[in-house]
Amino acid sequence: MNIHEYQAKEIFRSVGIPIPPGEVASTAEEAEQIARKFGGTVVVKAQVHSGGRGKAGGVKLAKTPAEAREIASKILGMRIKDLPVLKVLVTPAADIATEAYAGIIVDRASKRAVFMVSPAGGIDIEEVAASTPDKIMKLPVDPRYGVQPFEAMRMGFFLYDDVKQARAAAKILTQLYQAFQESGASLAEINPLVTTPAGEVVALDAKMVVDDNELGRRAEIDALRDESAEAPSEVDARKANLTFIKLDGNVGCIVNGAGLAMATMDLVKYYGGEPANFLDIGGSSNPEKVVHALRIITSDPNVKAILFNIFGGITRTDDVANGIVTATRQNPLRVPIVIRLTGTNEEIAVKILEENGFTALTDMDEAVQKAVQLATGGKAA
Ligand code: GDP
Ligand code: MN
Repeated sequence: MNIHEYQAKEIFRSVGIPIPPGEVASTAEEAEQIARKFGGTVVVKAQVHSGGRGKAGGVKLAKTPAEAREIASKILGMRIKDLPVLKVLVTPAADIATEAYAGIIVDRASKRAVFMVSPAGGIDIEEVAASTPDKIMKLPVDPRYGVQPFEAMRMGFFLYDDVKQARAAAKILTQLYQAFQESGASLAEINPLVTTPAGEVVALDAKMVVDDNELGRRAEIDALRDESAEAPSEVDARKANLTFIKLDGNVGCIVNGAGLAMATMDLVKYYGGEPANFLDIGGSSNPEKVVHALRIITSDPNVKAILFNIFGGITRTDDVANGIVTATRQNPLRVPIVIRLTGTNEEIAVKILEENGFTALTDMDEAVQKAVQLATGGKAA
């Protein structure tokens, strides 16, 4: 789950990282009032789940409250990387001497949290990695000990020659690790970490991504979710306890079990089709889940055919069949459906489906091929 800059800044502040104050506005008038309260030059910053806001025109300096109002009204109407800007953060502008980068990510290869720091900040770290990789220092953290003071100092000196600044950076990096750990983050980033002409080290941007699997035990982080920034179908799916990821193809897939869902997607591709989604209705028997799943799939205008692929173990195939009947009664389908089911209560399921005008297949290859044919109008077969 992504959170906004202003939310990540609150978390970073709570562990002691020096960050200028800031307040969020959803109208230009509010932005003007906040700017007046702070006095002096402020920065107006789009709050969207995307980097590169600066380049897109979503981060602007305003010298007066009136200018803050004017800029906020422009930024609040923008879309950045297709995301609507509904809020801006208004914060007193800092004077910048240098811009550095500091981040922590979970690295799959080393199975550890890895620090990445660079004195070349302000721009995308991917750009630095591509053009001047020697300007990045990487440091994996041993989860048993956390970041050690000598490690933090090494990174501090990689960023700054000045001892005071290196010490300040070392402290900030240690605090960043604390925030990262305590929030169950998969990424925590400060870009830019700046020095001011007076020599202070300050974080001007904050980004954090939290692992979805951590949210169950971190209600305070889950509460930061912004549903207006998510695909509506993914919000629906989460509420119905379905694992759903939207993709770009036209074969809507409803499957039980993540492994079978992956295998189904592979087979759709093998027969020349493109899956419209990954959807796992899970292992439980629950006709309601099928109703939700069908509603989510059918609301995608790209879907040209629907493929059910159910292997009945704990899942009872008759429950799935009842779900299909109920869902299609509520919302008649506008695209063809192919149903393959096998396993627990298969005979009952087939009977329910046939009585309601559906046909059920048992062979997976046959079902996938048929769904691909229907979705592509026979072209991919
Ligand atoms: P991003 O583009 O989405 O990463 O947004 P940032 O918050 O990193 O802002 C982009 C750039 O705006 C920064 O790299 C800075 O150069 C500039 N910027 C942000 N805050 C300030 C500030 O307080 N003062 C000044 N002078 N520039 C700022
Ligand atoms: Mn940034």
